[in-house]
Amino acid sequence: MKESVRNIHKPRFLFEYKGQPAPYPTLTLQRIDILKTRMIHVILPVGLLQCNCSILGDEATREAIVVDPGDEIGRIAASLKEHQLTVKAIVITHAHIDHIAGAQKLKALTGAPVYLNPDDEELAQMLDVQATWLGVQKPDPVEIDSPAADGTSLTLGAAAIHLIHTPGHTQGSVCLYIPSENKLIAGDTLFRDSIGRTDLPGGDTRKLLSSVKTRLLVLPEQTLVFPGHGPSTTIGREKDHNPFLRNL
Ligand SMILES: [Zn+2]
Repeated sequence: MKESVRNIHKPRFLFEYKGQPAPYPTLTLQRIDILKTRMIHVILPVGLLQCNCSILGDEATREAIVVDPGDEIGRIAASLKEHQLTVKAIVITHAHIDHIAGAQKLKALTGAPVYLNPDDEELAQMLDVQATWLGVQKPDPVEIDSPAADGTSLTLGAAAIHLIHTPGHTQGSVCLYIPSENKLIAGDTLFRDSIGRTDLPGGDTRKLLSSVKTRLLVLPEQTLVFPGHGPSTTIGREKDHNPFLRNL
């Protein structure tokens, strides 16, 4: 058989990436692009109420931000170790016990500062009362290092993480918006098909709906939303299907 005929079905590798042949230059570019921009995101549902703790990690610097370490700090630490990450900040979306109870332990373990919106400091100081609501052990008091005010921006590698104040579920609730990742970590403000409860101290339904309408539904519809409990969703999906947002 002639050489040219024998080779006709052989893939023609034009570019190589990390020693592996890549069949098309466009695919090579896409792969590099994905590796450059996508951050590590581990979601661990922790504790009695299965609060979604997020570990955000940068592939290049190996720095991490941990959001809502509510419980099971051993599991969180194991995941950080597995991904070889060093924690540079601990962000609490709001001071309900299921989101904040493990923060002091993680802070002691990592030395990372704890961010909480000042409007939730009062709630953070009544963790013993909150423990009786759930019938769980009283956690260590949490020392807050940085006020997570509206507009605060943190960086993780090349990515910016913006804190958006969304009062309603609690007075000091915040969401984390990461435009480069197209992601929102929503705490207990917005859920798939639901919204946060407002019947606990500091809760306010009118404020919650206003926060969702003016701060969250204005984000791009394709924004991935990671709520504080349960499955993920998108801003567009909740606009269309969330029964609590129908009359906004
Ligand atoms: Zn909550």
